[in-house]
Amino acid sequence: MAGTEYVIGVDMGGTKIYAGVFNAGMECVGTARLSTKADRGAEAVIERIARCVRDAVDECDLKLEQVRGIGVGAPGAVDPEAGRVIFAPNLQWKDVLLKKALEKELDLPVFIENDCNICALGVYELELKSKPQHVAGIFVGTGIGGGLIINGELYAGFNKTAGEVGHMVLLAGGPKCSCGNNGCFEALASRTAIFRQIKEAVGEGQKTVLTEMLGPKLEDLRSGDLRKAIRRGDKFVSRIVEQAAEYTGIAVANLINLLSPEVVVLGGGVIEALEDEMMTIITQTAKQRALAGTAKGIEIVASKLGDEAGISGGAVLARRQTK
Ligand SMILES: [Zn+2]
Repeated sequence: MAGTEYVIGVDMGGTKIYAGVFNAGMECVGTARLSTKADRGAEAVIERIARCVRDAVDECDLKLEQVRGIGVGAPGAVDPEAGRVIFAPNLQWKDVLLKKALEKELDLPVFIENDCNICALGVYELELKSKPQHVAGIFVGTGIGGGLIINGELYAGFNKTAGEVGHMVLLAGGPKCSCGNNGCFEALASRTAIFRQIKEAVGEGQKTVLTEMLGPKLEDLRSGDLRKAIRRGDKFVSRIVEQAAEYTGIAVANLINLLSPEVVVLGGGVIEALEDEMMTIITQTAKQRALAGTAKGIEIVASKLGDEAGISGGAVLARRQTK
């Protein structure tokens, strides 16, 4: 269709909404951000997503009529065909018909997916240029999510819930996970897990430069602070981060054994902040732990898309669905 070559990707998180407009060459030409304000309820959040989309379009002097579709990544369990967010704990959403509601607000076709699936799709098409056939994406942030690309397509599985790499159990009887289980990958290597271990040890008298930097209660602790502490020679923080990297490497080995992807790509705030500290350990552990010969030629890489993975993936989804 002439004149409607733009697509929009939206990354909706528990705290912020981020929208990006992409041209026919899939370059991002304008963005907008808005806080989510999840406590105001689903209807209000949907209205804010629509506002953020309009702001992004206005930012690049375009009109909504020039947009052919919108792809939205939502945190939680999503039924893309029904356009429904089944359950999103950090938004306190249950059974929200997001696609229909946004289409009504914006009068444009809307497509929804799980946020980590969307990030995997964005990395696959815009960063890896769709060259590999099989890719496993792991995103380490507050939680740990994943997305699987098999034969060039997002793999959803029987109940459309595949890719939950964060809930692979890596330590039976290990720490409690947000899902209620024990010893999940997420409970061992997410930002939440790393911060919990640090705060517990500090509470028991562990010395660290982090308390010099941030005070005794470690308020406002961020992933970047861990990098600073390690570069200042803090052995305690180093050890905790190394352990998280080892668990991540074990998770990668499991994925290699199970799927034999051509590329395993790692992203999310923790990897972004601690790439230099973690990637070598992740790669070495994965290659040691995968069955002999199975890791040969498989690339294990850190994504460079950072914060842009979600909006990129949303744009890719919208482009694929409106071709
Ligand atoms: Zn879990």
